Amino acid sequence: MPSRPPPLFNEKRRLLTLLTLVVIAGFLATSFSAFLASRDSVRDGIAAESLPLTGDSIYSEIQKDLLRPVFISSQMAHDTFLRDWMLDGEENADQIRRYLAEIRLKNQTVTSFLVSARTLHYYNADGLFKQVSEGEPRDAWFFRVRDMAAEFETNVDADMANRDTMTIFINYKVFDYQGRFLGATGVGLTLGTVARLIDSYETRFQRRVFFVDRSGHIVLTGRSFSASQRTLSQLPGYAPVAPALLAGGARQQQFSYAHGDSTTLVNSRFIPELGWFLVVEENDAQALAPVHEVLWRNLTISAVITLIVLAIALYGANRYQSRLEQLASTDRLTRLLNRQAFDLVFQQAIRETERDGSPLSAILLDLDHFKAVNDRRGHQTGDQVLRQVAELLRDTVRDSDVVARWGGEEFVVLLRDCPEEEAARLAELLRSRIASEIAVAGRPLSASLGVAEHERSDPPERFFARLDALLYRAKAGGRNQVAVDAPSVDV
Ligand code: GH3
Ligand code: MG
Ligand code: MG
Repeated sequence: MPSRPPPLFNEKRRLLTLLTLVVIAGFLATSFSAFLASRDSVRDGIAAESLPLTGDSIYSEIQKDLLRPVFISSQMAHDTFLRDWMLDGEENADQIRRYLAEIRLKNQTVTSFLVSARTLHYYNADGLFKQVSEGEPRDAWFFRVRDMAAEFETNVDADMANRDTMTIFINYKVFDYQGRFLGATGVGLTLGTVARLIDSYETRFQRRVFFVDRSGHIVLTGRSFSASQRTLSQLPGYAPVAPALLAGGARQQQFSYAHGDSTTLVNSRFIPELGWFLVVEENDAQALAPVHEVLWRNLTISAVITLIVLAIALYGANRYQSRLEQLASTDRLTRLLNRQAFDLVFQQAIRETERDGSPLSAILLDLDHFKAVNDRRGHQTGDQVLRQVAELLRDTVRDSDVVARWGGEEFVVLLRDCPEEEAARLAELLRSRIASEIAVAGRPLSASLGVAEHERSDPPERFFARLDALLYRAKAGGRNQVAVDAPSVDV
């Protein structure tokens, strides 16, 4: 049957477990609440500041980018040469070709154009390019511009004259000197310029920037996009936020979506000049990297402190436990082992001697007329004498021998690996030292001793009964003497 651990051990283990749990719980609670607070403030910073600012500055770049072509188109629409040429019947097409080529070259635009309302001729830097017609969907823009109230519009369209590249056109209305509609003129920019802008934002701010039209098609992206991503809902994690984003207006909107184990914060706004939504997003993983690092550092420190606390607590508990054990096994007056502790040591010694057959002996010692010491000099002197005797016994025996207080003024010495004759010699030494070294008020103290060697399979009670009988014999023989079982030993 396995031996059960003593209750003190269980209690210690429970205490240490509880302590560890409390310390770990405390550390986890503080580390994680600090982590969550920092994470929220990092995310708030991205959502409330950095993304709107990026959106603002991209928007203002776009406006700046569009402003110049709008300005050029306005100058063209108000140019007297252009208007006179139209009013004069559009006779020399080469003149307008040269004009449009100059504009295009000087301003580095992709295209420059003029469409006449009278002849429906479409001119560009190469001359007369085609004729627009009202039924043709590709020409619908001209008739829209003709009928619109505003002076100009920005329109993103495929440029027929330029292998259908997606182009931002500034369509400016041209009027005669009486305010009658003559046609539309302007310049076009490929979106390559804006795309380069997006790339520079992506690398400068570590953010993803793209444009999406009202139907959710991704119309313009930087290099970080893959070609297969054509619509908003094809972007991983976007499905839940796409409808709200596409329903938004010119006011900025904030979203966030989770993909994998990171969260992406999204800022979107509708850009009326383009008819597109500008979407700026930032994944919080990079911004949170230092926050995660702090969390791991805190957890590591917590773990180390927990281990130190545990080690200190374990050390303290062990010390306390061994102190308790010592107190429980020690006689308070003489600091010798008490009777209970001696019993355990004796049982252990019997097991040893039965295992290896080594001789085991014991001496039982009783002070003579000790009652008289108490009676004459008081109990305290008696105690003092008992301590002196204990000291003398401890001092005389080998380190491997065990001295215990048997009770009252009786002591027992357990001698391992010691035959009876040797035990008897030690007993005699003890007797003579007590008689010669300890005196009370001038009267020498003496002791009577019984000596016996343990016999195999002798139960403890029998062994001590034998010792007791020998002690009695020493008393009866006149005290201050050693009584041994074997008659051959001379004392
Ligand atoms: P003898 O053994 O020689 O027959 O005589 P004795 O006077 O020693 O007799 P007994 O063993 O009966 O008396 C033991 C005395 O020891 C009685 C008790 O008052 C005293 N005693 C026992 N324990 C203590 C103790 O802790 N302190 C002191 N001061 N006295 C003690
Ligand atoms: Mg006694
Ligand atoms: Mg006595």
